[in-house]
Amino acid sequence: MAQKMVLCLLLCVGLGCAQSSKAPSKELLEMAQKDPKALSETQWKEVLTPQQYDVCRLKGTERAFTGDLWNNHEEGEYYCTACGAHLFQSNTKFDSGTGWPSFFQPASKTAIKEIRDTSHGMIRTEVTCARCDSHLGHVFEDGPRPTGLRYCINSASLKFEPAKN
Ligand SMILES: [Zn+2]
Repeated sequence: MAQKMVLCLLLCVGLGCAQSSKAPSKELLEMAQKDPKALSETQWKEVLTPQQYDVCRLKGTERAFTGDLWNNHEEGEYYCTACGAHLFQSNTKFDSGTGWPSFFQPASKTAIKEIRDTSHGMIRTEVTCARCDSHLGHVFEDGPRPTGLRYCINSASLKFEPAKN
């Protein structure tokens, strides 16, 4: 009898745990890839980590030198962490010294959207994913040749896939 009680208790604790750290459903993850604009903010909260949600959906900025990718020198492709769209390539990434991943050009002109941003008392150009409208970062006109542009992007908005050799 006592043993049964313990078993029951363990089972309840186990279930409680599983519920509090619930992973997004497969359907929701697929929907984020296939039809990202259909997702509600509640659904984005399930799909993204709290930091990704803060950056992608609330236009937050990760602290400089804290992201996973500012110092990544590997060859490969950078995708939108929210919807999987192809955004940047490693051969356009450069060391800007800012502590954020920096690129002089996007993977294609249609991959990103540029929006005038007058928040925080500055006039800047915000960069978002054209496919899912997630915030990526900003673009500045102090980049290297050949474009002279610096796409200053949050690591939290990006998913890196190394090139297959
Ligand atoms: Zn996206």
